[in-house]
Amino acid sequence: MTPPELTFTPSANIAQLKESATIAASQRAKALRAAGRPILDLGAGEPDFDTPPMIRKAAQVAIDSGATRYTATEGILPLRTAIAEQATARRGRGETITAAEVVVSNGSKQSLFNACFALFGPGDEVLIPTPSWTSYYEMVSLSRATPVAVRGDPARGFKVTPADLAAHATARSRGLMLNSPVNPTGSVYSRAELADLIAFARECGIWVISDEIYRRISYVGEAASALDVAESRDHLVVVDGIAKAYAMTGWRIGWSIAPAQLTKAMTAFQSHTTFNPSSVSQAAAVAALTGGAAVDETVTAMVAEFRKRRDAALAILATEPRIRVTPPDGAFYLFLQAPGAGKIPDAGTVFANRLLEEHDVAVVSGSAFQTPDWIRVSYATDLAQVESAMHRIVAAYRSA
Ligand code: GLU
Repeated sequence: MTPPELTFTPSANIAQLKESATIAASQRAKALRAAGRPILDLGAGEPDFDTPPMIRKAAQVAIDSGATRYTATEGILPLRTAIAEQATARRGRGETITAAEVVVSNGSKQSLFNACFALFGPGDEVLIPTPSWTSYYEMVSLSRATPVAVRGDPARGFKVTPADLAAHATARSRGLMLNSPVNPTGSVYSRAELADLIAFARECGIWVISDEIYRRISYVGEAASALDVAESRDHLVVVDGIAKAYAMTGWRIGWSIAPAQLTKAMTAFQSHTTFNPSSVSQAAAVAALTGGAAVDETVTAMVAEFRKRRDAALAILATEPRIRVTPPDGAFYLFLQAPGAGKIPDAGTVFANRLLEEHDVAVVSGSAFQTPDWIRVSYATDLAQVESAMHRIVAAYRSA
């Protein structure tokens, strides 16, 4: 008997899944560059700096001293302890956050997914301030819950308020994805704004997942953490990692801080999906978190450089007064309204394609963030490229 022909049809789990638009945009730019096109890549959400030398050294020492085997699923104790100690210092209030509340993963993306999968399921709705990072929507959908976009007001840098949340909250609301500084807008929630959103969620019995991966990159003083302002932590998952602050995107280390029972469930889940994150990367992460002043100085220097690029970019964009940009107070993104917004469909994609095809500038269309009239521009690339790209964006805007 001839066996039946097998063709791939996506399972119900991924039937609706779309590839990450942020990753696709940055890989497309890399491929075009490799093929010889002089692309200025402002698509990638990735610091262009090298990992600080003392962190790299710690990884080399770890390899040579045999840290090459499986570790605990939830990560090595010295790393979880360092994370818990930093979180305890930040939290204050006489509360101790312990290593039993921490799961280290292969990047904050995995921690976010662990939390979504452990907390949400069929029938649940999850509020997502919009625009927001492309993967939140997919992670919620993969958890078989329903993502509910809560659009912020562009006049407030798209930041949402408790009233915005209230307008979308239902008896099925089970989660709220927070992120500050925000990818893609660069907006930063003040302590009071963050406190109000978290208090609203607590009143409604909604879990908060606070993605703080850009927290160290702020130009308006220290960006608030949910740990600073949440009245209680019984409904709070804080997610962070080493990628952005320490220029360690490729090392893949992130973590969650969550109530112990949820932490146990996420550990069990991770024990079946990926098990421990890289042992060598964990050693490097310990060096990043415990490196003291030497590491902190390199972080400060990187943030100062991002600020310089941001200011230079804004000065060039200001030469065309019609260009609307949300206040970029943190992260390394500018969020710009595309020409033709409100008049032509998907104006952001049209503009992003034109920038790429006619001006060799790669950016990400706002459609990746559920805001199709805008584009995201990353300035995590050197100053000369940022300036040259901004001149091209102004020229393209004027000729649109
Ligand atoms: N988070 C970055 C971005 O938004 C890196 C790519 C990704 O994971 O989405 O560009």
